[in-house]
Amino acid sequence: MLNATSKCPHGKCDGSGMMWLRNPETLETKAQYCTCREQKLQNKRLAFANIPKEFSSLTIKSFDSEIYKNKEDVMRARIAKKQAVKYVNSFEEEFESIGKGLYFYSATKGSGKTRLAVSIGNAILSTKHKQVKFVTSLDILKEIKNTYNRESKYTESQLIESINGVQILIVDDIGVEQPTPWVNEILFSIFDTRMKYNRVTIFTSNCSVENLKHDDRLRSRIFKMAIPVEMPEEDIREKQSKDQNREMQDLLLAE
Ligand SMILES: [Zn+2]
Repeated sequence: MLNATSKCPHGKCDGSGMMWLRNPETLETKAQYCTCREQKLQNKRLAFANIPKEFSSLTIKSFDSEIYKNKEDVMRARIAKKQAVKYVNSFEEEFESIGKGLYFYSATKGSGKTRLAVSIGNAILSTKHKQVKFVTSLDILKEIKNTYNRESKYTESQLIESINGVQILIVDDIGVEQPTPWVNEILFSIFDTRMKYNRVTIFTSNCSVENLKHDDRLRSRIFKMAIPVEMPEEDIREKQSKDQNREMQDLLLAE
């Protein structure tokens, strides 16, 4: 390795991800990818994904469908978890090529929707090395509004283009925004383009697609691009933090 420096974690390249090798007989040099290259790419993908810290290490496996009190909710959670596993396992063969996402919904906040959607994103990011991005629908709209500001670095169309370039987009909390004509138009244009290019979008929402207050055009677009998954109607955040505290107490009391 002609260009090995300490900048490479393996001491094989100069930190650029390319190794230069010289053939001892012909003295010809040739370039080859270093093993640090894939790690760097993966770190970039992770930073880009913007997944909230509290969710960044969550897996589908650790999604606890038995935590819910209500029997019906346990059933819903089990089915949702099963669907999430199947979705990830056959993502490349079945869903990615046709740009089909998922739509997790239930009226109750804190029922595990975001958690499961993000876990799917984490799985696709870590095992399939795809580009994933997490945003709330309010974030999208806020950022687009920011581009109307004169000092903005980007134009509206540049921002929309960058959203549409993302392979797998997780849109959290769709439906909380006021469905003004402008909101309908912007979201329609984003989702319509994503569908045209078979980009996958995963949604979470406090209401079913039928009950979204947006216009018919937008609703029918969302219907086409995502499979609805009903989630439990139980807030488990408090229960989860209680469980965590109990575990910590056990730890503190352990001899
Ligand atoms: Zn290297």
